Amino acid sequence: MKQIAIYGKGGIGKSTTSANLSAALATRGLTVMQIGCDPKRDSTRMLMKGTLIPTVLDLIREKGEENLTLDDVVFTGYSGVRCVEAGGPEPGVGCAGRGIIATFQVLERLSAFTEDIILYDVLGDVVCGGFAMPMRKGYAQEIYLVTSGELMSLYAANNICKAIARIAQNVRQVCRLGGVICNSRNLPEEEELVSSFAKSVGSKIVAYIPRSSLVQHAELHNQTVIEFASDSPLAEEYRLLAEAIISNTEFIIPVPMEIADLEQLARSYLPPMTGMV
Ligand code: ADP
Ligand code: SF4
Ligand code: MG
Repeated sequence: MKQIAIYGKGGIGKSTTSANLSAALATRGLTVMQIGCDPKRDSTRMLMKGTLIPTVLDLIREKGEENLTLDDVVFTGYSGVRCVEAGGPEPGVGCAGRGIIATFQVLERLSAFTEDIILYDVLGDVVCGGFAMPMRKGYAQEIYLVTSGELMSLYAANNICKAIARIAQNVRQVCRLGGVICNSRNLPEEEELVSSFAKSVGSKIVAYIPRSSLVQHAELHNQTVIEFASDSPLAEEYRLLAEAIISNTEFIIPVPMEIADLEQLARSYLPPMTGMV
């Protein structure tokens, strides 16, 4: 069983990438479980025909943890992908990270982890102890960062590298960085910039996903791109990402960049300001 986590800044495309990756892995014949670990709870929506499935935390509050069954918390979506949403605490109270661990404990008690691939889709804006829980508790072992070339997105990716490096100091932890997924925002020389960032932390780009309105078209049909337009070049990029992740053998402890160096790197890829308003 491979336990993969997709981390990145909010809104950067983690859930879009995760859902398409799960769909690509499943259509290739692997069994997959996708676990949304973002209080936004929409990680699995495109695999579930647009439905927001009930979250494990809401179900714990409603029914009590000990009364939950597998059918309450796991929902089967496109191509057999088994979908779970951890959910979040009531706004203003409680810790999202604790909620994530409570979810994993329920899944363990129900012996739910049976798939070839377990994919965690985790919010990574804040690398507090909370959202680092899947790594700290040994659930997420192979980490992939989703980033564009925008500074704030690289900044979040670099922060997650800091968390991985810190957690990996514990010899019992197997958490390693598997690579960086560039989800494009159509910036000039974006792939080169993200590739330089990946190299600087000791890693590599595993996929370049172009910015495409096909993602919105698929989304408005409540489907992943893999389902909506399986013959499209974009679907092929998601399938290539799936192959890269399956065949990856390079897992490293990243060396995070100094912030000043990260800013300098981003500046070095800026186009000239001529003609700008
Ligand atoms: P996150 O899970 O990181 O918060 P989402 O996957 O929900 O982010 O993506 C945010 C928005 O960006 C979505 O509405 C999606 O349509 C859009 N998006 C993501 N990736 C792409 C892409 N490659 N091309 C075009 N739009 C994209
Ligand atoms: Fe939120 Fe993180 Fe603090 Fe938990 S540790 S309450 S997830 S900010
Ligand atoms: Mg998301």
